[in-house]
Amino acid sequence: MRDVSRQAVIDRLRNGPAPEVVVIGAGINGAAVFRELALNGVRVLLVDRGDIAEGASSALSRMVHGGLRYLETADFALVREGATERNRLLRNAPHLVGPLRTVVPLYDRWGGTLAAIGRFFRRPVAASRRGAVLIRIGLTLYDWLGRRERTMPRHRMLPRDAALTAMPGLTRSISAAAEYWDGWVSHPERINLELVLDALRDAPQAEALTYVAAEGFSADGVMLRDTTTGETLRVAPRIVVNAAGAWIDSVNAPMGINQRMIGGTKGSHLVIDHDGLRAALGGAMLYFEAPDGRTCIVFPFLGNVLLGTTDIRVEDADGVRCEESEVDYLLAVLREVLPDIAIGREHIRFRYAGVRPLPHVDAATPSLIPRTHSLVASEATPHRPFPVLSMVSGKWTTFRAFGEQAADEVLRRLGRARSIGTQSRAIGGGAGFPADRAAWIATVARETGVAEPRIAALFDHYGTRARDAARAIAAGPDAPLAALPDHSTAEIAWIGREEIVTNLADVILRRTLIALRGQASEDAVRDVAAALAATLGWTAEHRAGQEAETLALLRDRHGAGQKLNATPPVCVMS
Ligand SMILES: Cc1cc2nc3c(=O)[nH]c(=O)nc-3n(C[C@H](O)[C@H](O)[C@H](O)COP(=O)(O)OP(=O)(O)OC[C@H]3O[C@@H](n4cnc5c(N)ncnc54)[C@H](O)[C@@H]3O)c2cc1C
Repeated sequence: MRDVSRQAVIDRLRNGPAPEVVVIGAGINGAAVFRELALNGVRVLLVDRGDIAEGASSALSRMVHGGLRYLETADFALVREGATERNRLLRNAPHLVGPLRTVVPLYDRWGGTLAAIGRFFRRPVAASRRGAVLIRIGLTLYDWLGRRERTMPRHRMLPRDAALTAMPGLTRSISAAAEYWDGWVSHPERINLELVLDALRDAPQAEALTYVAAEGFSADGVMLRDTTTGETLRVAPRIVVNAAGAWIDSVNAPMGINQRMIGGTKGSHLVIDHDGLRAALGGAMLYFEAPDGRTCIVFPFLGNVLLGTTDIRVEDADGVRCEESEVDYLLAVLREVLPDIAIGREHIRFRYAGVRPLPHVDAATPSLIPRTHSLVASEATPHRPFPVLSMVSGKWTTFRAFGEQAADEVLRRLGRARSIGTQSRAIGGGAGFPADRAAWIATVARETGVAEPRIAALFDHYGTRARDAARAIAAGPDAPLAALPDHSTAEIAWIGREEIVTNLADVILRRTLIALRGQASEDAVRDVAAALAATLGWTAEHRAGQEAETLALLRDRHGAGQKLNATPPVCVMS
């Protein structure tokens, strides 16, 4: 692979031909359109003012789904698209996306029917608990809309006793439950990265730069500022794609586009370490309604449990965090549905929050804001010589379809034909995914001389990219990290070299699951910094600064021992 270090990319941009397209924002939607354009021969540059997947694309509920609850607002096309993309992701990214058995507790037969009719016609009715009839109709429709390329079982209704056996911790006040299958993604940040890495590997004319902010334009083109040095760079593309999520409006404004497109809502999650809670879930996700009718999720997650989420309108997406009042709310709704399990703040290992880049509308109720994605074109003007295509909204699950839609529009405007599609293209470590895991591990162990248990651990993190990691480890020297024996020095150095890393937090929070698993102790942060320092040429002073910044971020944004300010929360599934 060519040198993807930031200086090498900046040099190529300064001295080579201008990119035809600049994509602003390296969340999942920016990465998706970048991959589509790169594979189809377009000279495309992807930039993000932070790291890959630093916005909403690392703050999701990690569900890969059609969105059962959007049936109520009659978003059938959205549900069909999401369910079809879910089915494709199960095949194209099997290393990180898996099936998820889901249980919906039911309390009566007819509950919520009138409210559902109101929501179907987009009336702002108060939410109320949905009964068995409504859920059964919804799941029948959900199965039908998700039938294309489907591999998972259909839904079934469970009588009360069977439901309590399937999920032993459930409240005894249920009358029945429904069971259906959806998908989940363990590490969406890596899929986001892999889309970019795959594009860079397969398309030598494509470039990606993180920690570079788009700050408007001048006669020479789009102004980009390197946020690590303050230096500016100008590029003159034919088309700009604005994939800045919740920041779309603030990226557009300095380009002379003042149409309000985004009306985001914040959602927060807790990672909880509690054996009893994990056991009570019986290996399934609980998709449940709070007493006020809002929907939440809780499911076993990499040895812990993930609980979410809230839905709070925000005007400013910068620096959002999970507030104490949201923690109170989430723990209270969990107690309602699993009453015998005492969860307190002491069990919370990690918190995260993000802003859904929803379209700007006047809906009073966040759950009534449409979740469909759209591409909004702002044509070139006498002052701005290029059009801007803004990628508004979109679920994580539908990134491929949205990226494809945006790329088709760009290709049309460039007068190019599409030569490569992505519907059945494997992503990153999902390529060449083996049917026989044990045989694959044994082969790579033989090839590289690295022990089988180590290859197995690498395979679980990186899918078939584990072969590259193992080769780097075999080239030595290597040693397990003292505070994180699941990771090793040569593995972290490989990530630093190959995976577009600038900061320590990129590795702790996104390239690995160290933070999300609640393993980012001070010692762990220092071990990872030490393993990265030589690869990235950090001085002792720079390394100390990186450690301090990362520890502050973990404390201030992710709740390590901090009391945060309160705002009144509401809770709803995204
Ligand atoms: C709480 C919550 C739960 C969710 N749950 C689910 C779920 O379970 N399943 C699902 O399918 N979807 C879910 N979603 C939705 C999904 O996460 C988002 O719709 C999706 O990640 C949006 O991706 P994006 O690329 O548009 O935006 P983002 O990921 O936010 O990316 C935008 C990027 O733009 C960059 N940027 C901003 N300004 C600039 C600038 N000036 N220059 C350069 N770059 C800039 C930012 O740094 C950021 O990286 C959830 C979202 C939230 C918040």
